[in-house]
Amino acid sequence: MCGDRAPSVRSPCIIPPAALHYGGVGSAAEVSAFQRSRCRTSPVRLFFCGGICKYTFEKDNNAMRNAIKGIIKKICPKSLWTQMHNVRVKCVYFSYQLNELLHPKKMRCYCPCCGLKFESFIAGKYQECVDKLDTARYVEINQDVICPFCYSLPRHRILALWLEKRKVLLASADILYFAAVQSELLWMKRNRIFCTTADLYADVDLQIDIQDTKLTEQSYDFVICNHVLEHVEDFRATLKEVYRILRPEGSLICSFPMDPAIILVDEDPTIQTKTEKIRRFGQQDHNRIFGMNAGLLISDAGFVVEEIRGEDYPKEILPVIGPANYDMNILFHCRKTGKR
Ligand SMILES: [Zn+2]
Repeated sequence: MCGDRAPSVRSPCIIPPAALHYGGVGSAAEVSAFQRSRCRTSPVRLFFCGGICKYTFEKDNNAMRNAIKGIIKKICPKSLWTQMHNVRVKCVYFSYQLNELLHPKKMRCYCPCCGLKFESFIAGKYQECVDKLDTARYVEINQDVICPFCYSLPRHRILALWLEKRKVLLASADILYFAAVQSELLWMKRNRIFCTTADLYADVDLQIDIQDTKLTEQSYDFVICNHVLEHVEDFRATLKEVYRILRPEGSLICSFPMDPAIILVDEDPTIQTKTEKIRRFGQQDHNRIFGMNAGLLISDAGFVVEEIRGEDYPKEILPVIGPANYDMNILFHCRKTGKR
């Protein structure tokens, strides 16, 4: 890979901040999952966290836990609070590692994002998000799909495994990552891969619009945008723009919701209200939903498209479909060949 390294590199913290950076519906569901995961107090975790944690983290004591946490947070200097938070999460991390050592046969699930093994993943509280998504599309709404430590979803774990096989290449590449999620940034930190994060609103390296980045032509080797194309106003303009900023032989890595009943894409710019978007596209902030042949739309922008399917991956990291029926967990590797 050629060229100078991207100027700004964001170092992700090992601590996933309660999945707050997941956009849209994911946030509430994943934060709920996070809270519930803390209620599953294992003996090992108790060893680290102490008796007070057992009392405050019990399922019925969430209010008490939050109250105590609120008081401590108010009287505690911010830096000390952050340090305490870091220590606590590191303890949880090591407790999972210890659990893995003590009960290797029980650990049937593996999360490549955080590198930990678990007895099971955990479910998101999707049924509580009726105002944000179409719950009818969740075939198994209580399916255990979220990593209890880093909150990765199947699509994040597929991407992490794909990246894992290309670590050497990525180490010297310029990577632009739109709508970055903490679980994948955690994978990058663990593997010492540097990337430039980009988004419209979030706290990122580059606050830019993926439809018109204003970046120099041919300036990146990889562009990652997982579950972004269904949100933008014009996905065709987005693909053209990504093609423009990629170097020859550069790659776009993306995935998006795919409805098995649709061939290419279902979109309608006249649909503007949240209710209509939920009904038609499955989520309040979706502007479209793609179909099973959506790869053809990416080819139209000039890319050579390779599909990496969920079923190609081991069952330990994901169910093939889920959590929603449009989460087909297909990853698209789209190469810019320079021959348009
Ligand atoms: Zn994880």
